[in-house]
Amino acid sequence: MAEHTPMIKQYLEIKAQHQDAFLFFRLGDFYELFFDDAVKAAHELEITLTARGGDKEKIPMCGVPYHAADNYITQLIEKGFKIAVAEQVEDPKLAKGVVKREVVRMITPGTVMEGRTIQEKENNYIVAISDFQDGSYGLARTDLTTGESFVTLLVGDFDEVVQEVATIQAKEVVVASELEKQKQARFQEFLTVTVSFEDNETLPEAFVSLCENLTQEKLEKTFARLVNYLENTQKRSLHHLQPVHYYTTTDFMKIDYHSKRNLELVETLREKKKQGSLLSVVDATVTAMGGRLLKKWVERPLLDKKRIEERLGAVEVMLDHFFIREELRERLREVYDLERLAGRVAYGNVNARDLVQLRKSLQQLPAIIDNGEQLQNSYITKMTTSIDCCEELLDLLEQSLVDDPPLSVKDGGMIRAGYHQELDTYRDASINGKSWIAELEQKERIETGIKSLKVGFNKVFGYYIEVTRANLHLLPEGRYERKQTLTNAERYITPELKEKEALILEAEEKIEDLEYHIFLEIREEVKTYISQLQYIALCVSTIDVLQSFATVSEKQHFVKPTFTSDRTVSIIDGRHPVVEKVIGNGAYVANDVMMNEDREMLLITGPNMAGKSTYMRQLALISIMAQIGSYVPATEAKLPIFDQIFTRIGAADDLARGQSTFMVEMLETKYALTKATQDSLVLLDEIGRGTSTYDGMALAQAIIEYIHENIGAKTLFSTHYHELTVLDQQLTKVKNVHVSAMEEEGKIVFLHKVVDGQADRSYGIYVAELADIPAPVIARATQLLTELEAGAKETSPSSVMVEEKQLTLFEDEPVLDKKKTRAVSSNERQIIETISQIDILNMTPIEALSALNELQKKVRNKG
Ligand code: ADP
Repeated sequence: MAEHTPMIKQYLEIKAQHQDAFLFFRLGDFYELFFDDAVKAAHELEITLTARGGDKEKIPMCGVPYHAADNYITQLIEKGFKIAVAEQVEDPKLAKGVVKREVVRMITPGTVMEGRTIQEKENNYIVAISDFQDGSYGLARTDLTTGESFVTLLVGDFDEVVQEVATIQAKEVVVASELEKQKQARFQEFLTVTVSFEDNETLPEAFVSLCENLTQEKLEKTFARLVNYLENTQKRSLHHLQPVHYYTTTDFMKIDYHSKRNLELVETLREKKKQGSLLSVVDATVTAMGGRLLKKWVERPLLDKKRIEERLGAVEVMLDHFFIREELRERLREVYDLERLAGRVAYGNVNARDLVQLRKSLQQLPAIIDNGEQLQNSYITKMTTSIDCCEELLDLLEQSLVDDPPLSVKDGGMIRAGYHQELDTYRDASINGKSWIAELEQKERIETGIKSLKVGFNKVFGYYIEVTRANLHLLPEGRYERKQTLTNAERYITPELKEKEALILEAEEKIEDLEYHIFLEIREEVKTYISQLQYIALCVSTIDVLQSFATVSEKQHFVKPTFTSDRTVSIIDGRHPVVEKVIGNGAYVANDVMMNEDREMLLITGPNMAGKSTYMRQLALISIMAQIGSYVPATEAKLPIFDQIFTRIGAADDLARGQSTFMVEMLETKYALTKATQDSLVLLDEIGRGTSTYDGMALAQAIIEYIHENIGAKTLFSTHYHELTVLDQQLTKVKNVHVSAMEEEGKIVFLHKVVDGQADRSYGIYVAELADIPAPVIARATQLLTELEAGAKETSPSSVMVEEKQLTLFEDEPVLDKKKTRAVSSNERQIIETISQIDILNMTPIEALSALNELQKKVRNKG
């Protein structure tokens, strides 16, 4: 193998330290990638792959221009990759041999600070996980852009950890290198988050104060894993990290990952868009911080009635005071994203424009506090009275910064006149110099009589006097010194002009340096206010979410929910908040939901497309809205506080995970059956649809019985198995309801109205017709249906639920109710089928006896 060049050797040394990241290796104006990185990056980024080196041993290589690197880095981050950026860390002119390079920063999906991957109204979490010997797991998460940190301890199986990571939508998880591969794989396959490693669980001194409130060492260790990873990758100030906040998942309503997706709480199932989710309906926040907080609230409904009512009470006063609320909204609109600003201040990448925005935000505070107090609500005043308006900082920003500073912090133009004496002196010098030059133009025009004479400036020659060729004859010989000849003009200088120029340029350079210096001082001052700004952000965002609830409630005619302590549900004229908004104009058919101890489980039948699933989701969404402190779409809503919501709704497309739809259906059902309590809400939509009729129906019945006997959770169960509707006579807490439909001139009309009792038929073929299935298929299906229905009447054994007296093969089998119906086992079915197929006329007596013997054996063995 050919010996590598020193530079490639250096590359390989650095790469060896960063195996799991793309190494962006700075070479002049480019970042270059080599070897496998190059091949992979060329593919991912669709850039040209070239090669470096002689003919014998070519090294694959590709590169991106340094100034356009951000875009490429973002593309890789979005795909879940990590990037190590190696810069030249010594002046190439002074270097002996290969210029020294070092990785100055790692960029990973959980640590990006800016760019399009950072959504305004979303957090970007990185989470560290520790797997403790006693079976518990520590989780610590931080959003680097805002500096907020949370820790919790989970006990149970690893599924809990995966659920929590999914709930917070973490972009990256940091684990110990020895965490079992199987567990690591859960993140990559199931959640597609980036997995990183950090083994150091010792908390660096600088972060000890952040953990003062933590009572358990395990939590501190987990947070330590996180900050060690951040320190190693970010290699810069983490000053803005806020004190770690402890939470426990038992404070919140539990909604597992699938249910959250199915209910489309924060994004739609298929397109993963916010539009069309519950979040989009309740979001009338006007600040980015409020938007992020609202998302957190939607994802974590509360269990504590007092806290819920505190929020509802604040929404109520905001609803009652329209003008104050409107004023508040106007003020809030002017408040900048202080949380992210604090993060950028710590990282040292704010500019003067950001600080002007901060000034504007601080200016709003007194009025916001005023509005808060006018509302006379204890929850709101508790926040507003504790806000520190940072008057000194505001003073500083008002006095020092101009109103519309440039983006760049190095070109001057940021600092107000009168703020800094030395700066003012240089500015005067520059202004005087410039006005002398402006006067010079006038003076020379008069003296030479050349009206088109002008004084100009360019970067190479500085100031000059320009005379067009046509006028050259008017210029007295020796008046100026010739500097440059153009096609149509000559350019000149004079010693005095050069002297003034030197003064101006010197002053300008000094101004730029001094302004930058002053700006840095101001920025350092802002840094000392980071924790106050973060607290303001918290108060402002909470007020923003509360006003958002009030604004939406007013517009959408929501009502304040109340909570029952006997687990009854009583919703009058409930609506599905998203469907209602989509179909608009009062087209939504409102429905009641009544559930109490005699109606724990509602079995919902009705044609496809009638609105069964909408009805079920409606109850879940109303409950979630109530428990986040929002008003709800109904004319009256009395609800219990649900501890958990489980759903098995719709066909979750999990083919990517290699699981069949039926398997997913069963996994989700298992989750509900094993975790639900009597305080939970369980929604099961068309259970058993994914398998054969007998299997499906048997499973559906068994599941209903199990919930009825062993859990007692409030359950909505929709089914197209009409045979199941008889269950209401055997299971005391099951009641039938159905979504009504009407036939009009051979066409079906969905009324979307849910009423007590069972539906009479399924109308599947009508729906197929609606979907424009070709007419011959519809005609044939109608014919088959008629035949099947007639057949079913004649030979009831083909139907799963049969009259008891027709079929009592096994006396010792438990029978629920002799007069009623019972399910038939597959063994019984086989026997019935065998009997019906025996061709007696063509059998010998011995054959007949032997067939009878076989049947008897089957009956005796029952299987
Ligand atoms: P199912 O579960 O019975 O097959 P869905 O709940 O999916 O039916 O509802 C089908 C469609 O009917 C929905 O997309 C919605 O547009 C409409 N729909 C459902 N419920 C209502 C309602 N209460 N009022 C108006 N339209 C409704």
